[in-house]
Amino acid sequence: MPVKKIVILGATGSIGINTLKVVDRYPGRFKIVGLTAYRNRTLLQRQVRKYRPKYVALGVEDPQSLSAMAAAPDVDIVVIAMRGAAALAPFLAAAKAGKTIAPANKEALVIAGDLIAAAARRHGAMIVPIDSEQSAIFQCIDGQKAPIKRVHLTASGGPLLHRTVKEFDRMRVQDILRHPRWKMGPKITVDSATLMNKGFEFIEAQRLFGLRHDQIQVLVHPQAIVHSMVEFVDGSVLAQLGVTDMRLPIQYALTYPERLPTGLPPLDLVGLGRLDFFKADVRKFPALGLALEVSRLGGSAPCVLNAADEEAVEVFLKGKIKFSAIYKVVEKVVFRHKIVKNPSLQEVLAVDSWARQEARSVMERL
Ligand code: MG
Repeated sequence: MPVKKIVILGATGSIGINTLKVVDRYPGRFKIVGLTAYRNRTLLQRQVRKYRPKYVALGVEDPQSLSAMAAAPDVDIVVIAMRGAAALAPFLAAAKAGKTIAPANKEALVIAGDLIAAAARRHGAMIVPIDSEQSAIFQCIDGQKAPIKRVHLTASGGPLLHRTVKEFDRMRVQDILRHPRWKMGPKITVDSATLMNKGFEFIEAQRLFGLRHDQIQVLVHPQAIVHSMVEFVDGSVLAQLGVTDMRLPIQYALTYPERLPTGLPPLDLVGLGRLDFFKADVRKFPALGLALEVSRLGGSAPCVLNAADEEAVEVFLKGKIKFSAIYKVVEKVVFRHKIVKNPSLQEVLAVDSWARQEARSVMERL
């Protein structure tokens, strides 16, 4: 069994840390050859002492070094655990170098999923997603030759599922950061509260699996045990179920096409007793409705959605705008944008910086 050589972009975040736990479980199968972090120098240093990687980078000022690392000839798997649009360049570099790519990052696929998918196809790169929903879809279609009728993308509903709209703006930032099912970074937790995260995953699934926007349906499933489902033309629906722990999809991506024990507790369906599903309420969570509209518009629209949301959430986390303002800012910027069809990388980057600027000026006038 050849040892798989792994680079982790974003090693100090929750996905990065969990990836290293998976590696620790099977030390004979994996070798860490590269680690990067955005600013957690202390943890990165500790990881470097333990894993002795050949490549190390701190900060994102130099996307070229991340891209070089992702494309290095002695790398087999690139785990993209960093968040933000900064992952786009190394993601594309890994695709062009024909690597196995395990992305947890959504932004790159949302803003330039078509470019990434095309580069991966052209250069024989394989994308085995880590995001639990995309991993579920991947697992349901793996080995299937039949066409997909549609995908049921599940959503836990986020920390505000049982709150009323009136309560939203009374929630403090720290209340919103308390997610009932998943422990994640602050940006993605806020996106889970607005359901924008599900909107991003919708667009991500479209790009990863080549689906039309009307082939995906969002289903709220508070237990977060069914990670998504795929319906085939004959009406059969395959689902992937598992305990709510990121090590499961991470390990699947690293060992694919094999499956190995994870050491996680088994799924206890009798203990759970029930699994609930219901329709997502886009009036209560307008960000999801907006994201679905953006997925229909396509072209450069998803890039605007992502950039404006990133700016608005950052300002919300500083306590400077209300929760409901996140959506209002993003909506304004999306509808001010003149859509570019099939944008090139340069056009995507230009749209990204336009949308950020626009979002900041909208917020200044609030
Ligand atoms: Mg997810």
